[in-house]
Amino acid sequence: MSGTIEGTMGSENSMQTLGPGSRGPAVADVRAALRSLGLLPPADGVPDDVGAEVYDRATELAVRHFQQVRGLSVDGRVGEETYRALSEARWSLGDRLLHHDPERPVRGDDVTNLQERLLELGYDAGRADGIFGPETETGLRTFQRDYGLTADGTCGPATLRALRQLGRKVTGGRPQLLRQSASFVDSGPHLIGRRIVVDPGHGGDDPGCTHGETTEADLVLDLASRIEGQLAAAGATVYLTRGRHQDPTPAERTGFANDARADLFVSLHLEAHGSEHARGVASYYYGTGSGTSSTVGEKFADLVRREVTARTGMLDLGGHPKTWDLLRMTRMPAVRLDCGYLTHPVDRLLLLDARVRSSVASAVLAAVQRLFLPADADPPTGTFVLPGRV
Ligand SMILES: [Zn+2]
Repeated sequence: MSGTIEGTMGSENSMQTLGPGSRGPAVADVRAALRSLGLLPPADGVPDDVGAEVYDRATELAVRHFQQVRGLSVDGRVGEETYRALSEARWSLGDRLLHHDPERPVRGDDVTNLQERLLELGYDAGRADGIFGPETETGLRTFQRDYGLTADGTCGPATLRALRQLGRKVTGGRPQLLRQSASFVDSGPHLIGRRIVVDPGHGGDDPGCTHGETTEADLVLDLASRIEGQLAAAGATVYLTRGRHQDPTPAERTGFANDARADLFVSLHLEAHGSEHARGVASYYYGTGSGTSSTVGEKFADLVRREVTARTGMLDLGGHPKTWDLLRMTRMPAVRLDCGYLTHPVDRLLLLDARVRSSVASAVLAAVQRLFLPADADPPTGTFVLPGRV
């Protein structure tokens, strides 16, 4: 039973979303995963017919709980992302051999755990994202060499023993993340040579959220073009992930940013809500809310949201860690900015005003600039104007 989810996920790129009322073998897989994580009570014996298992209220609550603690969007339904997270959560360090497979990268909580241990010991294993990539392999090989193990880049019993013996004696560093911060400051205050990927959400046949004729897809594309213009004028090299008629998948968007070797990735969305009182600007960065996070991403999420709210008067809804694919699969600091509610009358009016959209673009420029400035030269929020620009 334990291999079922992994097996199903490997072969499929798209799956039907499961939710209340769904039934069948896929529901049985999900419930088995939730049971093994202790989120559902154990089954009484083996079910006679897994096809008859139903996505009941208890399943929904367990899924919501799982989504909450994993930093996923909490909707109580199991789409691709939640399904994969469930399958990854079932692996503990030592359950299997870990190594770099370029064809089909190994993913799981055991990989996160390995990466975190290497990082704590001062080895650059890449971001602790639960994906065993080339950086993790390099970090692991260096560790193995230093500790007199066979430097084969595979985490097996001998390597695990060494890691366990070292235990948590060495802590408090997250040196690689600190280094990541430092190298950003070292790179100097100018944006020349910086590559920034701006990702307008949705597009093509997917309008995103809408209000009358107004669509999120159009507005964020307009915002992205304004941001592109301002950043380019400041010397940065800017790429947009889509044009008007395209709607790339999250994998295509993040692949594009990785291929472009971007220094920073900014995804733009707007929000909508059933209540017309919901309003404001939120930002998201990679993290689980329990330790694993991207410090540069978190800092940029904070800067950009504060700049936008200071310049537009929109409500500040804070910055939040998420494990969304978009934030996780990007190899550079990545932030998603949800820039106001189309369903809120004032937010909407602001977003429909081209001058306000230009202010948002200036806010993003200022935030990018502040990210590269040393802390003591950091100007107050809402005031920074690039030299030579108005
Ligand atoms: Zn959106």
